[in-house]
This record gives sequence, structure tokens and C-alpha cells, in this order.
Amino acid sequence: MKLVFLGPPGAGKGTLAVKATVFFKAPHISTGDIFRGAIATGSPLGMKVKSIIDEGRLVDDDITIGLVHERLSKDDVKNSYILDGFPRTIAQAEALTKFSKIDAVINLEVPDKLVFERLSGRLVCRKCGFNWHKYFNPPKKEGICDKCGGELYTRDDDNVEAIKERLEVYREQTAPLIEYYLARGLLKEIDACPNVDIILENLKKVLDSP
Ligand code: ADP
Ligand code: ZN
Repeated sequence: MKLVFLGPPGAGKGTLAVKATVFFKAPHISTGDIFRGAIATGSPLGMKVKSIIDEGRLVDDDITIGLVHERLSKDDVKNSYILDGFPRTIAQAEALTKFSKIDAVINLEVPDKLVFERLSGRLVCRKCGFNWHKYFNPPKKEGICDKCGGELYTRDDDNVEAIKERLEVYREQTAPLIEYYLARGLLKEIDACPNVDIILENLKKVLDSP
């Protein structure tokens, strides 16, 4: 199954993808993770995109499309994958149609207020990548991941200014993809407010229904 997860920042695309990648045995491809990995290693790509990402803007279409194109040419994603955070613009969606045929686009719906609450309290594990939350899902020991003992940090783009910018960018450039995929009969909607296990169950249901 070749899936795209669509939705505003903070909808929980990444959290759902971590569960779904196991269930569907489909590799998880997150453009955000790829960029953050590049920043962490200090590669030329990382240096180029760091300030863009920290400010909540989008990386150039050409760079992003090239990266995804290359990743999708690998053997492990011949039959299935989960794209998390790509496409984010109409140009990216158009490019994707040229090099891969997706089965469905899952739109995770969540109100702005919840997005803000989720992102402004998010804590990410440096080691395993799990997302904790200061208030909604705090680890037992402050600053330490319960799952792996890794150190927790706040993403540089999870500050109020960058969150506002990311939401605006989403509204202007990414939300039009809802209509785009609806028109192509690929869109499936899911309520992203409940906890991730319930969302995964709902995902299985919408994929089973015609
Ligand atoms: P979130 O969904 O929480 O905003 P992501 O981890 O998906 O976070 O993305 C983080 C940042 O990486 C984005 O704000 C953007 O700067 C960059 N990015 C990720 N995917 C794309 C993409 N498809 N096109 C352009 N920029 C991207
Ligand atoms: Zn961890």
C-alpha cells in the first residue's frame, strides 16, 4: 500500500506513521526527519535548510522533490510506503504523480487550537524520536524518555512564532492538496483528535471501505 499522510503540523502524522509503518509493513518516509537528520550531521543540505525550517517556512520544491524522488527509487519502497510530510505543495504533488502511483491520501483533521497545544508542549526523544508532551503525555522523569532513556528536547521550530508561520504556510500551500486529491478520488478523511491507537483503527477501516 502506498499512502500519503496529509494534515497540518501537529496533526500527528509522524506519530501515526510510526504505528502504521509496523502494521502495514510499509517504510516510513518523513521529509521533516530527513531534513532534521541532515541538519544534525551538518551536511551541505542541512546547512542550506536549517534557517528555513527553524522559521517554519518550506524548503524549495526542487530540493524536496529531488530528495523524495531519490528515496522512492530504492528497492524497499517498490510496493509500499508511507509518505509523511510530502507532498506539501501542488508542485510537489504534480511531481509525485510522475514518479510514483499512490493508493490513497489520508487527511488528518484537527482544529487549530489543538495543533497549537500539541506543538507548544512537544518534547522529542533524541535517541528514538518518540514524541512526548509536557502536559498531555509527560515522561515519568523530566527530560528523559521512558521508552529508551534518551534525552528529550524541544524542536527549534516548535516556538510560537514558527508554529504560527507553519500554520499559515499550511493554509496557503498545503491545504489546497485536499481539493486536489479529492478531485482525483484518492482522499480519505480521518479525525485526528483521538489517541493514536484509535486513529490507527480508523485508518484501517477507511482503507477497507471502498
Ligand atoms: P510538522 O508537520 O510538524 O511541521 P515536519 O517534520 O513534517 O513537521 O516538517 C518540518 C519542516 O521541514 C517543515 O516546516 C518544512 O520547513 C520542512 N519540510 C518538511 N517536508 C517538506 C516538504 N514536503 N516541502 C518543503 N518543506 C518541507
Ligand atoms: Zn526515546
